[in-house]
Amino acid sequence: ILINMKIYNFSAGPACLPEPVLNATQKAAIEYKGTGMSVMEMSHRSEPIVDLFHETTSRVRELLDVPSNYHVLWLQGGASMQFAMVPMNLLSNTSTADYIETGSWSTKAITECNKVAKANVIASSKQDIFSYIPKEYKQKIDSKYLHITSNNTIYGTQYKVFPKVDNRDGCLVADMSSDIFSAPINVSDFGLIYAGAQKNMGPAGVTLVIVREDLVNNELDHLPTMMRYDTHVKKDSMFNTPPVLSVFVVNETLKWIEDQGGLVSIENSNKIMSEKLYAEIERNMLFRSPVAIEDRSTMNIPFVFNDNSMDDNDFLQFCDARGLKTLKGHRSVGGFRASIYNAMPMEGVDALIKAMQDYEDR
Ligand SMILES: *Cc1c(COP(=O)(O)O)cnc(C)c1O
Repeated sequence: ILINMKIYNFSAGPACLPEPVLNATQKAAIEYKGTGMSVMEMSHRSEPIVDLFHETTSRVRELLDVPSNYHVLWLQGGASMQFAMVPMNLLSNTSTADYIETGSWSTKAITECNKVAKANVIASSKQDIFSYIPKEYKQKIDSKYLHITSNNTIYGTQYKVFPKVDNRDGCLVADMSSDIFSAPINVSDFGLIYAGAQKNMGPAGVTLVIVREDLVNNELDHLPTMMRYDTHVKKDSMFNTPPVLSVFVVNETLKWIEDQGGLVSIENSNKIMSEKLYAEIERNMLFRSPVAIEDRSTMNIPFVFNDNSMDDNDFLQFCDARGLKTLKGHRSVGGFRASIYNAMPMEGVDALIKAMQDYEDR
């Protein structure tokens, strides 16, 4: 049976994409720019695809106001590969880096760093199930970088103010997989930013890396070629066959962001959407937020029943029947999680709030 009902996908990732992006992708999957070929069939050396990469990079530079001494790279292997590439490229076997552990993704970044060099975990909120972002810590004097996760997708915490790096030779490195393009950022506060596409900018398969040029080391002969940033800088992200379709979708998503009025407007609507939902979580007798107020994310919003004898599945089924999908919380937190990335329309959040109110009434 085909049910004609609007579906809202609250998944943490891969996540919902704007409808105009999906429509443009459908078209390009059949035929790209009058070539008579699908975008998936075209050589990455062909002019339309080289142009596509340049166009996508220009949009990133424009939207984030990326200074000219930074490279913009399109890589594969997800944010998870950056967990390893960052220390491989920025550290030697005698240097170390500081890490703040704010969730499972930070933990994985730390594990990978420790395989190739040494990570100093200078702060962690693990003991409190990552319900807040630690703000008291001492950075090591000779650390090459300080690594943070800007938004913790699973636990729903987000940096509102980024840490300052004490060490003059050090820099800030951020995994921004789940909040890149959710608000303006000052790129020059960072040495390196990376983000897998599948949360807030496209489908899986491509990872954005923005790296300051002095951090790109040309003397890493001991590293596999694919694992070196300088390889990808020299070859304009086309050292090997790149994920053209994923980059196409990212480009369409960035166009859509421009059409919304850019990152200031996007930030504004993200604020309105998340504040609405937090207000309902506070008001509703059934639910509460497990996250410290000052660190609450605008992107991923976990909430749980006040009374833990209540049945999570019953509320999930109630929502599912209304077209509100993928609201189950991560197994480490339980309860529910509404991921409301850029592409989630206000109507989706309103429908969820209505469901929470109707469930309370019932
Ligand atoms: C999803 C996610 C990752 C993992 O990304 P992959 O592309 O699957 O490797 C890493 N960090 C954060 C913050 C994430 O949300």
